Amino acid sequence: MTRIIGITGGIGSGKSTLAQCFSEHLIPVIDADEIARFALTPESGCFSEIVDLFGGEALKPDGTLDRAYIAAKVFADKSALSALNGIVHPYVIREMIARTGACGSPLAVWDVPLLFESGVDAFCACTVAVLCDEEIRIARTMRRDGADEEQVRARIRAQISDEKRAELATYTIRNEGTLEAFIEEANALIGQIREELE
Ligand code: ADP
Repeated sequence: MTRIIGITGGIGSGKSTLAQCFSEHLIPVIDADEIARFALTPESGCFSEIVDLFGGEALKPDGTLDRAYIAAKVFADKSALSALNGIVHPYVIREMIARTGACGSPLAVWDVPLLFESGVDAFCACTVAVLCDEEIRIARTMRRDGADEEQVRARIRAQISDEKRAELATYTIRNEGTLEAFIEEANALIGQIREELE
């Protein structure tokens, strides 16, 4: 039975950087955002449900989803957004469970930005929250994504606060110094988690 380490953190906190450290320790990382993007492709197990929800107008001539059409629909209609989430979220969880079962490793990382908000922490043997001052996170995200400041602030407002994450997580790690210092601390934390879970 694979034990799951849930990692989370606000946008730009360094969550993906931490996931990469786990991966370098040969602990498989399962990425919820990547599966959520895959959910919208014709290869996913929930594609036909999404097409049924929005109708044939949501399909482009090549058979893929017209993301701009869907984005406009869910922006205009909150019930369409919750219906879409009602398809995609359970699919992401089913897929994460399936990939975990198939990985054959004693430990696996679930990288889930909305780990506590979605209740997915219930699947985890332990959780790690990456904490970081909001202004530093905004600067890093703007640099990484070329996003504008207001967009990043809006995404932060849709997430729980670092105080709440710190309260809910088994472990916390701060990422306000250099990348090298963070990686060093991350490796020490991974050693500690391995000792406790393996
Ligand atoms: P998240 O996955 O939480 O959104 P990332 O791990 O992608 O965050 O980090 C956001 C950006 O900041 C990336 O470009 C990453 O390389 C960079 N970064 C992460 N930690 C540091 C750090 N300590 N110092 C400088 N840049 C960092």
